[in-house]
Amino acid sequence: NSATKAPPTPSPLRFSKYFQANMRILVTGGAGFIGSHLVDRLMENEKNEVIVADNYFTGSKDNLKKWIGHPRFELIRHDVTEPLLVEVDQIYHLACPASPIFYKYNPVKTIKTNVIGTLNMLGLAKRVGARILLTSTSEVYGDPLVHPQDESYWGNVNPIGVRSCYDEGKRVAETLMFDYHRQHGIEIRIARIFNTYGPRMNIDDGRVVSNFIAQAIRKEPLTVQAPGTQTRSFCYVSDMVDGLIRLMEGENTGPINIGNPGEFTMMELAETVKELINPEVEIIEVENTPDDPRQRKPDITKAKELLGWEPKIKLRDGLPLMEEDFRRRLEVPREN
Ligand code: NAD
Ligand code: UDP
Ligand code: UDP
Repeated sequence: NSATKAPPTPSPLRFSKYFQANMRILVTGGAGFIGSHLVDRLMENEKNEVIVADNYFTGSKDNLKKWIGHPRFELIRHDVTEPLLVEVDQIYHLACPASPIFYKYNPVKTIKTNVIGTLNMLGLAKRVGARILLTSTSEVYGDPLVHPQDESYWGNVNPIGVRSCYDEGKRVAETLMFDYHRQHGIEIRIARIFNTYGPRMNIDDGRVVSNFIAQAIRKEPLTVQAPGTQTRSFCYVSDMVDGLIRLMEGENTGPINIGNPGEFTMMELAETVKELINPEVEIIEVENTPDDPRQRKPDITKAKELLGWEPKIKLRDGLPLMEEDFRRRLEVPREN
């Protein structure tokens, strides 16, 4: 009896809670290393529609090939320094080259990506009322004078050095996020990501974990940059993605450190890769690059308390998980 039928209730497609209704999510930089693992996780939820915007500078369609053609997935070739018009509920804003050789390749473009790119994504968030998460970095702490680094530390960053396009770029991006939050009421989330590793890392991007694994597989010497006593803390990518989603879904703006507090010298890392991947390989010392931070380790008290998050995968367990992916891409099968 159509005359007495109640009018249809509008479906709460947008501004809705995770897992309760459909959610349209934009991932900038989704064709990259962390972004593509994030997309895999978001796509597992049938209520999510995922849009990736990426200019393929350091990312690749190959990282997303299993989703191309999927009805809940869309891939757009787009540079975030240009305005973007889409209708979404959430924005994970990752677009930015992350490894020193790529971000130093065109430093002016790196700054534009961080500043204009983040401004555009905030303008988009403001127009559609979306929540936006920025992947900032431990590099905002520079060469830290406080150890381990907690979120209240303001950092020790060179404003005019060769890494500044990235470090200072991310610092401005954080400032923009907070100004849009205070001035326009945008819902923001800031993750300060510490060194992350796992399958799909760029093979020749000069980062230490990808370098050592590729060198061990190719039977080349592992190149420890002097002095080798500098430290880093390495987080496996599945732990990272879990932390980012918890931050997005939680109630805290951050900034929140997401990283693994296990701290290793570069010499220890080389020895571990040698032991696990190729005991025959040699370890050599080579020259370092300017402004290399001497130590880095996250204080993750805030992530534990506010997000109930801590990493699960130890370095010794994570490194072997990269071997198969690297062997396939390097076309060096395992010898038996
Ligand atoms: P990645 O280089 O693999 O991914 C970055 C992606 O952004 C790539 O797909 C690239 O093509 C894209 N991109 C770059 N500039 C763009 C632009 N102007 N417009 C559109 N797309 C653009 O790096 P990643 O390791 O996956 O890093 C992802 C994010 O996490 C970055 O914001 C990075 O700063 C941050 N982060 C990463 C680490 C780490 O250890 N990997 C540490 C700290 C912070
Ligand atoms: N912007 C965008 N997509 C949108 C809305 C805005 O890319 O859906 C860009 C817009 O081009 C602008 C930036 O975001 O350069 C900041 O937008 P905002 O509205 O905050 O500032 P205004 O346009 O007033 O300068
Ligand atoms: N590093 C190294 N050998 C390499 C590449 C890097 O010893 O082949 C060192 C580098 O000097 C730095 C650390 O590893 O101290 C981490 O470098 P990466 O570029 O991976 O990350 P970031 O400096 O951004 O933390």
